[in-house]
Amino acid sequence: MSLAGTGAAHAAANIVIVNQNAPGIGFNDPTPATPVGGNSGATLGEQRLIAFQHAASIWGAALDSTVTIRIGASFVPLSCNVTGAVLGSAGATEVWSDFPNAPRPNTWYPAALASKLAGADLTEPDNPHIVARFNSRLGLFPDCVPGLTFYLGIDNRAPAGQVDLVTTLLHEMAHGLGFQTFTDDETGQPFFGIPSVWDYYLTDNRTETPWVAMTDAQRMMSAITWRGLSWDGPNVNAAVRVVLARRLNLTITGANAGSAAGTYYIGEASFGPPIEPLPVNGQLMPVVDQAGGTGLACAPLDATNALAVRNNIALVDRGSCDFTVKARNVQDAGAIGMIVVDNVPGEVTTLSGTDESIRIPAARITLADGIRIKAALQQRSRTQSGVIAGLAADPVLRAGADNQRRILMYTPSTLAPGSSVSHFTTEARPNQLMEPALNRDLWHSVKSNRDLTYPLLRDIGW
Ligand SMILES: [Zn+2]
Repeated sequence: MSLAGTGAAHAAANIVIVNQNAPGIGFNDPTPATPVGGNSGATLGEQRLIAFQHAASIWGAALDSTVTIRIGASFVPLSCNVTGAVLGSAGATEVWSDFPNAPRPNTWYPAALASKLAGADLTEPDNPHIVARFNSRLGLFPDCVPGLTFYLGIDNRAPAGQVDLVTTLLHEMAHGLGFQTFTDDETGQPFFGIPSVWDYYLTDNRTETPWVAMTDAQRMMSAITWRGLSWDGPNVNAAVRVVLARRLNLTITGANAGSAAGTYYIGEASFGPPIEPLPVNGQLMPVVDQAGGTGLACAPLDATNALAVRNNIALVDRGSCDFTVKARNVQDAGAIGMIVVDNVPGEVTTLSGTDESIRIPAARITLADGIRIKAALQQRSRTQSGVIAGLAADPVLRAGADNQRRILMYTPSTLAPGSSVSHFTTEARPNQLMEPALNRDLWHSVKSNRDLTYPLLRDIGW
């Protein structure tokens, strides 16, 4: 076991990487490497270590502690298959309660935070506060997402097909620093009967009850209630209105709206103009070019469909072609907007694709919402439905936040053990470092006006 400094002499917290790999593997892999993206290591092992030290120095500069934080790190085989892999995992090696200066009694704190709060190292000098393991087999043929490799540059310019290691490290280190609950997300049971500091802030936004005040059964249920749990802490709450973009809505009104009238969540498109606070309103008209009332809009619209969508908002179904192809076809027919209905059950997600020629706004809704809205479109003429759709950015509410502007946590209706509850929602815009899957548009900065991870660590005591 060897110790390597971070080189961050002026860091407000010193974080060191403890190399736990055996000779010849992981950080000690002697395979020669070409310098990449500011990483000048001469071997694969050296480049891995430099990337680790870079991530540690970013967190070290943001945090404040008189106790050096030790991260025990290694590259080891982790689970993977042809299409997916565990990139890495990290967490606290120890939890502490009722240590000197503990802010809350009878409450677990992760080792690094407990030591900071105590002003003394509570962990034995030979032990790390955080353990981090990364997948040494990522990208290997035949079974570990062949071709998908870590980008070891430190310039945040990972090319397509590579995973940015520094971003992955910033995420995993945050878990180890305390971005996790030690309460079991599957059973709702606190670790050895003692709540985690996390559980004071994780709040059911329907009952306004924090996890610490719930029964095990209530915690279990809230962990699988989509949009049901929010983070209610002063630092995060103050930052939400600065960090998160406006929530985008579809509003359904009109004489024939019936029970479909209301406001719906939408997924935004990566093409076309942004959806603004000033709404784009129009008659909602479905494209029907398939059996069973489905409209794929994958080919130029025929005369009947073109007449229906002209100067109206087109409703089309997901499937068979790119979203940009659908948008181009309804735009060419004169539509002023497009709504895509998902073709499988699930939560709302985005519309991907790039096409500079698209000038109309587009959005995606869930299959369940689509079925409800389509029911209101049964009675229509060839050019009017009596159902008015409005696409607009909400003047008050935020993307990924509850109606009180608190960020939502990740609570899919099917529990994802280890991911549920200890990540931010996937609906946050801009994308957040601590979402369950890493997006490609994240920054190598943890103290910026675009991320809520650092404010959350402040809430728990950093
Ligand atoms: Zn994570």
